Amino acid sequence: MLQDTSKIRDREFEDALERAFLSQLDNNDGAVADYIPELTKTNPSNFGMAIATTTGHIYQVGDVKAKFTIQSVSKAFAFCLALEVAGPELVASRVGVEPSGDPFNAIVFDPQTNRPFNPMVNAGAIAVAGILYEHLGEDSFQFMMDRFSSAAGHQLDLNEEVFRSEHATGHRNRAIAHLLLANDALAVPPDDALDLYFRQCSINVTATELAWMGATFANMGTNPVNREAAFDLAAVRNTLAVMFTCGMYDYAGHWAYDVGIPAKSGVGGGIVGVVNRQLGIASYSPLLDAKGNSVRGVGAFKVLADHFGLHAFDCTNVGSSFIASLIR
Ligand code: GLN
Repeated sequence: MLQDTSKIRDREFEDALERAFLSQLDNNDGAVADYIPELTKTNPSNFGMAIATTTGHIYQVGDVKAKFTIQSVSKAFAFCLALEVAGPELVASRVGVEPSGDPFNAIVFDPQTNRPFNPMVNAGAIAVAGILYEHLGEDSFQFMMDRFSSAAGHQLDLNEEVFRSEHATGHRNRAIAHLLLANDALAVPPDDALDLYFRQCSINVTATELAWMGATFANMGTNPVNREAAFDLAAVRNTLAVMFTCGMYDYAGHWAYDVGIPAKSGVGGGIVGVVNRQLGIASYSPLLDAKGNSVRGVGAFKVLADHFGLHAFDCTNVGSSFIASLIR
């Protein structure tokens, strides 16, 4: 009798995802971010994970429908849009692509160029928001929302409370924006760049939506299901490179070593990972470590990467090619 191999493949994904999820379910280490007051209202026990394939399949476990704010995960997608809208030269004149090794909110610039080290830390992301505002003006947030929603496969919305909370308390980011202006890394009024930056961080997503956003990156910028071209092909390549080296703040080196896929985390508790041409993976758990990365998310990604041999430099034959043979 012929075996239905598609069922075996589905089960393999479901089992691996569940194993990664269960490995972290009882891990209550870490704390919810409290420097943005509204974020403390999050349920700390929320935990969900999803894998979306470039062939249009989704695998999910846990609280995958719970909304959380995208926060710094937005930095990767916003950088990709800035590359498309303004071109890589202009972007390179405002923000570098070197890992900084500093915390995400550090007030530190590349001493050679006076530019932020990279677009994945706050200083770089505010410069990127400035570029988008410079080119798209008042339309910039709607533009971002439309593209993010195409990638997520769902109309996303803004968490007004988190936006207001961040706007009211984001003095450190305000200081960074003014330094960017002083360093010629911002060509619009700081308040305009900050307004866009605070809004982009306050976009609500679910783990499922974030997995589709990752799968859109994996699928060369086109959402695998609705076929909408959310991101420019060349910009995706550049963005994945920066996610690989800088996506996990000052944990980026460890992450590249242990997990080995481009990823981006946010203080809302989300992490998105991309297996190029194959998968988008998302986790959501708001308990953060001292570096601002989701504790359960980091742990579960490690288990999943080991299981499937996702690491970019996995030397065994069960590396990414293994996944390629599984996805249908
Ligand atoms: N909106 C947050 C901030 O600027 C994002 C930080 C993060 O997710 N690391 O502080």
